[in-house]
Amino acid sequence: MPSTKYVFVTGGVASSLGKGIISASLAKLLQARGFSVTIQKLDPYINIDPGTLNPYEHGECFVTEDGAETDLDLGHYERYLNVPTSQANNVTTGRIYQSVINKERHGDYLGETVQVIPHITDEIKRRIKLLGNEGKYDFVITEIGGTVGDIESLPYIESVRQMRWEIGTDCLVIHLTLVPYLAAAGELKTKPTQHSVKALLEQGVQPDIIVCRTEKHLNEGMRNKIALFCNVDPTAVIESIDAESIYDVPLLMRDEKLDVEVLEKMRMPASHLPDLRKWEEFLYKLKHPKNQVTIGLIGKYVELKDAYKSINEAFVHAGAINECKVVVKTIHSESITAETVAASLAGLDGILVAPGFGNRGIEGKIESIRFARENEIPFLGICLGMQCAVIEFGRNVLGLSGANSTEMDPDTKHPVIDIMETQKNISNKGGTMRLGAYPCTIADGTKAMAVYGKSEITERHRHRYEFNNFYLEQYRNAGMLTSGINRKDDLVEIIELPEHPWFVGIQFHPEYRSTVASPHPLFVHFVKAALDFSLRR
Ligand code: GLN
Repeated sequence: MPSTKYVFVTGGVASSLGKGIISASLAKLLQARGFSVTIQKLDPYINIDPGTLNPYEHGECFVTEDGAETDLDLGHYERYLNVPTSQANNVTTGRIYQSVINKERHGDYLGETVQVIPHITDEIKRRIKLLGNEGKYDFVITEIGGTVGDIESLPYIESVRQMRWEIGTDCLVIHLTLVPYLAAAGELKTKPTQHSVKALLEQGVQPDIIVCRTEKHLNEGMRNKIALFCNVDPTAVIESIDAESIYDVPLLMRDEKLDVEVLEKMRMPASHLPDLRKWEEFLYKLKHPKNQVTIGLIGKYVELKDAYKSINEAFVHAGAINECKVVVKTIHSESITAETVAASLAGLDGILVAPGFGNRGIEGKIESIRFARENEIPFLGICLGMQCAVIEFGRNVLGLSGANSTEMDPDTKHPVIDIMETQKNISNKGGTMRLGAYPCTIADGTKAMAVYGKSEITERHRHRYEFNNFYLEQYRNAGMLTSGINRKDDLVEIIELPEHPWFVGIQFHPEYRSTVASPHPLFVHFVKAALDFSLRR
């Protein structure tokens, strides 16, 4: 292919319509036709990255291989495409302004008035083209966060307008809107879509394709009406009906010919069909489970379904491959005490203690781990969950009363989890944790070895605290195995209890690596252990 093609995905009418899923689904279809594709998210907020945002505000923070703290949509991109993303795949307004202001201070614009147009829009376009310039991708799909008409998204839409003008048919705009169903009228309504396209037109952008999120099918009349009022071909009006699973959407988009429409508009051949056999096999297994397990997810953001997005999705992948439906029951760690734990966790086939920060809910996590350990229930502790397992073992097995992490209790008598040496002099909070992929060496004859099947692995991290090696001997002597170690920095990465059927804690985040094509082995084995447990009962 001569040059990289750019596809923009904007949204209108309402937020949460699923721009990320539509972008990922289109990318999947193009990938399944043999193209190389990457997806980028532009976020209109002023934080440099979502790492400093509360999950209540923005859901999970996704971490890339190269250690970028990013929007959770990047997780979808990776889960669909099975290709890692990087820092360049997520850009915020904060980052754009930071570069422009740094350049201004450096003197790069001497004599000029620095303005939104052209300086900010040039920087936005530079960040978009950065991925295309790598020469690796046939398509760069750029999802613009927010909704058309928002003050914050104006410079992004303006950049899209400029890029279309500059590169013509190598660039295409998809606008995702909502076609609501009014029960009282018994009708779908196209007016919000018309208004949304009008708002985009006022900013100089005519969409090429309109994807309509809807709960009922669009008939031909509605499609023609939207086409007529919004200046697009009737074939370019694509229905995106509510789906049972997000993993259905690539197939729905294939049936609606979203990829064909994109290719034809870019004057590219669309003769054969995308090869989605593997995807369909996955979906078949997902929808025809032979067994079922219930896993308790112990965390403090249970009311918020996006807070543990990657963990939930990793269970979907691991469940499908085990042909086992995984029901994830989120349980608020603050509600768990020594008195309530047995009732709260009754009937679970596995217990996962979630990652997290700060003191809130920590004692409930520790109680849940004690319950899992003593009752031989399969247990997986991720990051803070692993740290809590170390605290629990210290307090209840080693008798180190008041053992804690110095994150929770800086004056604890037994700091079994302590701040990493490299973190001690860091005062800035943004982007300064131990982030991204680091190596880990796995010991022979351990559960971790059974999971990974090799001794050298890498996994993604996001933490400041670590197992305190001062206590290592005591733990080992009492039967806790440190089965994974980062040799270079001498950090404990994996702990396990060989006496327990399946008790594993990891300092890293396996959930970020799980994809449809490659479910994470830790989740696969954990689900298997939960299944064994449920069958034994
Ligand atoms: N708060 C802990 C730390 O910083 C755990 C972080 C996490 O769970 N991601 O080390």
